[in-house]
Amino acid sequence: MIVVGGGLAGLSCAIALADAGCRVRLFEKRPHLGGRAASYTLPDGAEIDNCQHVTMGCCTNLADFYARVGASGKIRFFDHMLFADREGRVSRIGPSRLPPPFHLAPAFARFRSLGVGDKLGIARALAEIIRGGGKPREGAERNMLEWLRSRGQTPAAIERFWRVVLVSALDEELDRAQAQYGIDVFYKAFLATRGGYRLGVPAVPLGELYAGCQAALAARGGEIRTRARVARVRIEAGSVAGLVFDDGSEAVADAYVVAVPHDAFLELLPADLVEREPVFAALRQLRTSPITGIHLWFDREVTSEPFWALVGLESQWVFNKSLLLHPRVEAESERGPSRAAPGTGGAAAPSKPARDGQYLQVVISASYDLVPRSRQEIVERVRRELELVLPAARSAELLKATVVKETSATFSPAPGVDRWRPPAQSPIRQLFLAGDWTRTGWPATMEGAVRSGYSAAEAVLSFTWQRREFLQPDLPPEGLVHLWVRS
Ligand SMILES: Cc1cc2nc3c(=O)[nH]c(=O)nc-3n(C[C@H](O)[C@H](O)[C@H](O)COP(=O)(O)OP(=O)(O)OC[C@H]3O[C@@H](n4cnc5c(N)ncnc54)[C@H](O)[C@@H]3O)c2cc1C
Repeated sequence: MIVVGGGLAGLSCAIALADAGCRVRLFEKRPHLGGRAASYTLPDGAEIDNCQHVTMGCCTNLADFYARVGASGKIRFFDHMLFADREGRVSRIGPSRLPPPFHLAPAFARFRSLGVGDKLGIARALAEIIRGGGKPREGAERNMLEWLRSRGQTPAAIERFWRVVLVSALDEELDRAQAQYGIDVFYKAFLATRGGYRLGVPAVPLGELYAGCQAALAARGGEIRTRARVARVRIEAGSVAGLVFDDGSEAVADAYVVAVPHDAFLELLPADLVEREPVFAALRQLRTSPITGIHLWFDREVTSEPFWALVGLESQWVFNKSLLLHPRVEAESERGPSRAAPGTGGAAAPSKPARDGQYLQVVISASYDLVPRSRQEIVERVRRELELVLPAARSAELLKATVVKETSATFSPAPGVDRWRPPAQSPIRQLFLAGDWTRTGWPATMEGAVRSGYSAAEAVLSFTWQRREFLQPDLPPEGLVHLWVRS
């Protein structure tokens, strides 16, 4: 078997096939694995992730993949999330003893950036999501903003609650994202189970998560070749005849899984085939949205927390990379919640020069407005916002900053997008598709990519008359959720 693309879709597919006893060769054009979830080295020698990546407790397939490659222990899960707004109000969201769907309700009731009226409206919308088991009776195919307005959500609730969670989860603005995707996020992550919302953050550079892949494939006689760019898929009489590489060499196999981004996939096919075949031509309808990562190195510690979600600001998440990548960090679930003084916006963190300073990463999803802006302007805007929520940043010196703009970071989960997303089995014999953009039912996430890889592996095996199941089910609903979901 051949897999093209060493991102999470290609790697998970290759590992699943190897676990089923297949000899797999994986070809990746870059020098490193991980695709969009990768790390690389800056000219000054610092190793950075292209952008902070997080998972959640509800991402069952990604967790299964990490377990298969021995990376589970490199992800730290946190029970508590801190939210800060521009007025300096801090709210801590964490679990209570109440059963799902009420486990987060006491923390939500204390959320300081919203008023009582906003919260009552949100509670009504969440109740509708639970009653529908994540599939509300109507409106789920509209855009998320329309759905929220039709449910009477206040502007504050939209801006300070729904938008804060969903723009980063979907990498899209609420008026451009299909409501069902947003509803799914709330049902699976925050309502249906006790642990679905827990944030999982890599405790190592992303590249280290894939260290076990090479050995896993080699154990079955397979291999991973990097710097191996496939130039085209050679198709004869409706079947794949082979893959042609940049240097003109060819590789032949029983089945081929192409796990590259959708636009790169179209370039590998003969142009007339793309025109003729509706499944391929439809991929031109997929739009993409940008993510911007801002890496900041301060001369001192400006926060002692592992991460912050920012409310009502352009900057959406701040990750304390010095702490997350440092061995002294422990998952909150292991050490109990830390205490940031409410109302200080993190000012409780001492502003002392740290020996190695502090490395923070700020993430802004759906960052359309930043795409045309200069790096310097972006750094200045983000720094101003950080000074609002982390006062210790005001007296800190910014030693170095890097801006990574991914202008086509992910496909946009626009209303109706699923009709353009293809299944794993392509119309060409022996050719299978994987990638976060295939029909996984998930937005563009690492979980979606692994789901696509596992689906492709199942499809390849069924093509060779074997039956194996790799796809992991969602976490089953817990607590009182069953009592609410209407049949
Ligand atoms: C900035 C950013 C932040 C993100 N944050 C998160 C997050 O926090 N949580 C989350 O779950 N998801 C996040 N995502 C989304 C997540 O990274 C992707 O959904 C996922 O990694 C996609 O995996 P993939 O394998 O489908 O595609 P890719 O990762 O794009 O992999 C495709 C691979 O194919 C290779 N390739 C392309 N063409 C060829 C060729 N011709 N020959 C050989 N190889 C080729 C590429 O080099 C690449 O390695 C983020 C994405 C970005 C860009």
